[in-house]
Amino acid sequence: MTSKEADQRGPAVLILGAPGAGKGTQAKNIAKVLDVPAISTGAIFRQNMADGTELGNRAKKYMDAGEFVPDSVTSPMVKARLEAPDAQKGFLLDGYPRTIDQAYYLRNTLAESGRELDLVLEITVDFDEVVKRLLNRAEIEGRSDDTEPVIRHRLEVYHEQTEPMVTYYADQDKLVQIDGEGTIDEVWERIYKVLEEHGLVAEGK
Ligand code: AMP
Repeated sequence: MTSKEADQRGPAVLILGAPGAGKGTQAKNIAKVLDVPAISTGAIFRQNMADGTELGNRAKKYMDAGEFVPDSVTSPMVKARLEAPDAQKGFLLDGYPRTIDQAYYLRNTLAESGRELDLVLEITVDFDEVVKRLLNRAEIEGRSDDTEPVIRHRLEVYHEQTEPMVTYYADQDKLVQIDGEGTIDEVWERIYKVLEEHGLVAEGK
């Protein structure tokens, strides 16, 4: 890769947040203003489940139990996605990495093509607020992993596995925390401001 190619690369951003913190909604907005594809592991798994693919069938039992799909399935899937042509100009990752091991895998994968994450956003929301939001979403979307015991388990898993990774990115000065309380528009304004401050908003967006 020449340095010219590296200069033409767009932003590589990761969005984090407990289930129900509203990151799916914000991820779409972020990808739009950065002018990069949004890559959501949860969405890829759900699409595969809906299509009845082998990948979907393998992921289903873990997702329905609120457990992580094994890295042996998830990590190569993400690597392949990041190697696709549309991800070369940058990307917004949503839902991967979720553990320190996945963060190391991502770092190594990106390093192979001279890339690294530019920014990590974490949307923070109070535990009870998140349970309330997820139960509400369960009624609207009917997702099979949105029952109360599974929701509580997914939140525990987030705190145990993902919080240590937040520290890993904070230590590298890549982390910006966003207050996730309030309306979608209010949270979006906070995010947009941070993206602007980091010079990541694409021209005309
Ligand atoms: P999400 O839509 O991001 O909340 O993800 C829904 C479910 O997909 C999770 O509860 C996991 O079962 C699975 N999943 C998504 N991303 C990952 C990941 N990075 N590692 C393992 N499992 C994942």
